Amino acid sequence: MNERDSEIMGQILSSHGYVECNDMESADLVILNTCTIRAKAEQKVMSLLGALRKIKTQRPGMKICVAGCVAQQEGDHLIQRMPHVDLVLGTQNIYDLGTYIARTTETGRPVIATGMSKAFQIPAFLPTDREAIGSTGDLHPFRRFVTIMQGCDNYCSYCVVPYTRGREISRSAQDIVAEVRKFVDQGVKEITLLGQNVNSYGRKPNGTARPCSFPELLHQVAEIRGLHRLRFTTSHPKDLSNELIGCFRDIAILCPQFHLPVQSGSDAVLKRMNRHYTVADYLERVEALFACRPDLALTTDIIVGFPGETDEDFALTMDLLERVRFHGSFSFKYSDRPGVRSCNFDGKISEQVKSERLAIFQRRQDEISLERNGAYVGSRQEIMIESTGDSGFQGRTGTNHIVHVDQHTDLGPGDLLEVEIYHAGQHSLKGRFHPKH
Ligand code: SAH
Ligand code: SF4
Repeated sequence: MNERDSEIMGQILSSHGYVECNDMESADLVILNTCTIRAKAEQKVMSLLGALRKIKTQRPGMKICVAGCVAQQEGDHLIQRMPHVDLVLGTQNIYDLGTYIARTTETGRPVIATGMSKAFQIPAFLPTDREAIGSTGDLHPFRRFVTIMQGCDNYCSYCVVPYTRGREISRSAQDIVAEVRKFVDQGVKEITLLGQNVNSYGRKPNGTARPCSFPELLHQVAEIRGLHRLRFTTSHPKDLSNELIGCFRDIAILCPQFHLPVQSGSDAVLKRMNRHYTVADYLERVEALFACRPDLALTTDIIVGFPGETDEDFALTMDLLERVRFHGSFSFKYSDRPGVRSCNFDGKISEQVKSERLAIFQRRQDEISLERNGAYVGSRQEIMIESTGDSGFQGRTGTNHIVHVDQHTDLGPGDLLEVEIYHAGQHSLKGRFHPKH
């Protein structure tokens, strides 16, 4: 979501005459688009701001903007801690970036723009032609993200998103389809639709737009001619509908990849997390998914060391891992976030125990990922090429696995090619293709 927001800010800046440069030292304006989901993400921002302070001492004309969730959370505290910051830009305020930068110049003082409104609507935002050349950072010109909703109303007890991103709001299907169509016209082949909980898409629509459900939206987007691959993230297990599961059967370009964060394998912990499902509910949904699409690659998110998590609770998370055998997972040590309910929960777990549990989980997940990946050896997979070099190229399967091929090809990024997988590693596969004579 931050990557897409960064693109939008890049687009606004280019319409104000800015051009991109490749290093912080020579930039007139540096924007840190930040995340505060876990303490570690926030610490990274603070240390980068420290480094920028030194650069700014040498080049006082440089402007520094902190955007995104750290900006939203810290507001004017950020200026108190980091007086060299010129602009603090909240998550709903990025669309007015140009105005706020001009204000920092006019006033010569730091500007704090972190207002949030219940009536906030995501503006219709079409990519410009300049953006379509893929000039922003390392984004691929053929693979793009499209934000379909913002904010979250779920209030999981550990999570800062409802506070930093505001109330859930869905963009109109019309705006989304127009944005995807524009991307596809510019050569984009793969789109990932983004929302904190895509299954509630349309429940709180932008303005007066006619609401449609997420599965309906998927069908509409999939009909856009020239789009080859469609993905989405993230889905909440509590309201993963049969209709959405059915899309994996009915929509040919929907990639067989699904991210379904479970967080814990213990019902007691899930309850305190305010997740509104049990392990049995989760397993039932997983079964329905695989029944519909047996070749699906399933990934999840896990938090270890949630307040009050006992050895038995953690053992249940390990049991769940054995039962589902996720293709991959993102696992994190629980960290307190400002203002969330779990900050005040009893039974905080020590860093040492959290680290031990994380290591145990990740070690076993790595073994399972390797076993899962081994099952692809000998199969033929369609990959979309992402990068090419003198001695080979790299692509991605529909299941979202990276494949390295050490043969030359005249094809380029965005092209589709069928390869035979001959080696599996923990995090990637190796493949070869048979050139046509
Ligand atoms: N909306 C998505 C995920 C958003 S946050 C969902 O509901 O699943 C991405 C992941 O960060 C979460 O799934 C969770 O595993 C992790 N996370 C969120 N808050 C956290 C915290 N306080 N400590 C550790 N991990 C956290
Ligand atoms: Fe956070 Fe829960 Fe919303 Fe996901 S669903 S963003 S974890 S509050």
